[in-house]
Amino acid sequence: MNASRVLVLNSGSSSVKYQLLDMRDRSRLAVGLVERIGEGTSRLTHSPAGGADREWTGPVADHDAALKAMAAELDRDGLGIDSPELAAIGHRVVHGGIRFSEPTVVDDEVMAEIERLIPVAPLHNPANLTGIRTARALRPDLPQVAVFDTAFHTTMPESAARYAIDVETADAYRIRRYGFHGTSHAYVSRETARLLGREPEEANVIVLHLGNGASASAVRGGRCVDTSMGLTPLEGLVMGTRSGDVDPAVIFHLTRVAGMSADEIDTLLNKRSGLIGLCGDNDMREIRRRIDAGDERARLAFDIYVHRLRKYIGAYCAVLGRVDAIAFTAGVGENAAPVREAAVAGLEGLGPEVDPVLNAARAEGPRLISPPGARVAVAVVPTDEEMEIATQTYALVSDSSDLT
Ligand code: ADP
Repeated sequence: MNASRVLVLNSGSSSVKYQLLDMRDRSRLAVGLVERIGEGTSRLTHSPAGGADREWTGPVADHDAALKAMAAELDRDGLGIDSPELAAIGHRVVHGGIRFSEPTVVDDEVMAEIERLIPVAPLHNPANLTGIRTARALRPDLPQVAVFDTAFHTTMPESAARYAIDVETADAYRIRRYGFHGTSHAYVSRETARLLGREPEEANVIVLHLGNGASASAVRGGRCVDTSMGLTPLEGLVMGTRSGDVDPAVIFHLTRVAGMSADEIDTLLNKRSGLIGLCGDNDMREIRRRIDAGDERARLAFDIYVHRLRKYIGAYCAVLGRVDAIAFTAGVGENAAPVREAAVAGLEGLGPEVDPVLNAARAEGPRLISPPGARVAVAVVPTDEEMEIATQTYALVSDSSDLT
């Protein structure tokens, strides 16, 4: 097959992120973002490989207009989406339920199933669908591949995936733990095995994806066996604006004593909790700056964040039994040395150790931050969800073209 380019689209409710990759050498040909779609001040930023960045502001009415603006920018670089070099378009889709455990070529039936999952992903799946629909209209002849955030977690055993609630109610409303950030957990767990010089099948890894959203996963021999996010991305770790785990009784307590509605509590737990709810800031850089200046609220927010992280590390050591490595990734995990140090401090009994000098050194690329000989290696492994989506997309379309 000659076509070797894959366009990766990540469509949010008011933004579209895109990357054009050449899978022959896994190089990035262009990267861009259209944001504030539907507002008068939409903005497009576009960075072609080896060229100057471009940016403009103006009205972009909807996703259709956003993808057309993207296509025009790619055209200017001689990378037009009409090119026969383009093999497929890979779409990030947040919720694939239990059905989609693999990347999937989109047809009408797949669209309908993604639509059926909207009740469990009301913020994300509609935007993802809009992106797919628009891209299909632009290049109806091209395979559109959906890569699901939940897919990597479909290997979780029922003991980890089910909540202990009435089975009939759970099944009737598809209530179970799906997990998210799966593309990142898949990529990072595999890269961590590679860093250890092992095959993914031979490594047990705890991945800590700490961005604005945050999740942990326990990966045994390349397969996810537990993860911290659940029915929605609200469960688990303390995040930038989300509470993570709370006693579910907090919700009915608030309805009874504060008269809050379901929507108000949804907003409270998703948007006004986590680090921002605790101290007013959700950026770890700002929190560290405030801690250095002696701010007590920022200190407490940091301590609560780290305490939850340590509980999950301990839990996943127990889930896995034998752990080969703990990998930190995403904005906080890749950059915040104090978080990594505090998350692992004093856990030598369980195996992981962090070398303070290696941890503090600024570097790019996957690297170990544990001292040689640590029983459990600790690593920083930058995530690359777009590359993973492109890789999975290309593998699927190359395979299917071989069959035809
Ligand atoms: P998203 O979940 O939006 O994809 P990212 O993975 O980009 O998030 O992470 C964003 C977060 O990473 C920021 O909110 C900030 O807390 C943190 N972050 C980014 N850079 C740094 C840094 N240099 N030091 C500490 N924290 C950082």
